[in-house]
Amino acid sequence: MDILISLAVFVLGLCVGSFINVIVLRYEKKESIVKVKSHCMKCGHELKFWELIPLFSYLFLRGKCSKCREKISIIYPIVELCTGLLFMFSYWSFLSMPFFKTYLFSGNVLYMVLAILSLLGFFVLLSVLEVISIYDLRNLEIYNSFLTVGFISTSIFIIIQNYLVYKLQVLESGLFYNNTHGMAIFFGDQFSRYPFLSNILGFVILFLLLYSIVWVTRGKGMGEGDPYIAGIIGLWLGLFMSIVFMVISFALGGIIALGLLIFKKKRKGQVIPFGPILFLGFLITFFFGGSLVSAYFSLL
Ligand SMILES: [Zn+2]
Repeated sequence: MDILISLAVFVLGLCVGSFINVIVLRYEKKESIVKVKSHCMKCGHELKFWELIPLFSYLFLRGKCSKCREKISIIYPIVELCTGLLFMFSYWSFLSMPFFKTYLFSGNVLYMVLAILSLLGFFVLLSVLEVISIYDLRNLEIYNSFLTVGFISTSIFIIIQNYLVYKLQVLESGLFYNNTHGMAIFFGDQFSRYPFLSNILGFVILFLLLYSIVWVTRGKGMGEGDPYIAGIIGLWLGLFMSIVFMVISFALGGIIALGLLIFKKKRKGQVIPFGPILFLGFLITFFFGGSLVSAYFSLL
């Protein structure tokens, strides 16, 4: 059963990865997402059904268009594979959270909805952040409509989630804490009693912090879209993990900037896209944030 669900989640990730490729590509070429059929960018050959299967079509076609033999970028299968793996690891990570496993297999519909919704909300956020990051890496630009989709979808998930938490009174059971590991260990009941407030504060603090950096550095420190990305992540993480996320992201940004300077890939004052760094920081916070915080406090 566990293997079957894991496999299903992996395949879902492959398909979402394939869709992410389509979105990024079509935004770059200014094509419609829904109206135009998938086609070869060089000869216009419309992709047949089997040529749309993520990952495997690339292997069958040996990386070339079936008609004009134009090379297909290796980036596409990599994005698909990474998304598949990310989805599967996320599912495993959720399974290690007490509330998720208990509710998912509880047999009670509302509890199962709460568990599944929490996971789906995370997948949507992950996908939007992936689109933003890939686009930012390739074009040094963050699209407003990506941010809008991210903000609205995350808000909806957080509101429904908090409503269910309130309705099912799961806070009293002590099982539920604000999405991520670690929080309950240090703030325990005091903080996790107000998850919705924590979500909102996460948004406000990260947004204001990054917005003030943009304002002070007049956009040279980071781009105008970055405060919104951080805000959306903060909304999902809640207050405590948002602070952990910020520390990790700035450390990461410093290391990457230094590395690029040392290896002379970038000159001083050149722009480094901060969107992908925030995404990476978010992944590290989600997968290892709890462990990192525990390690830090045990050192004190
Ligand atoms: Zn072609």
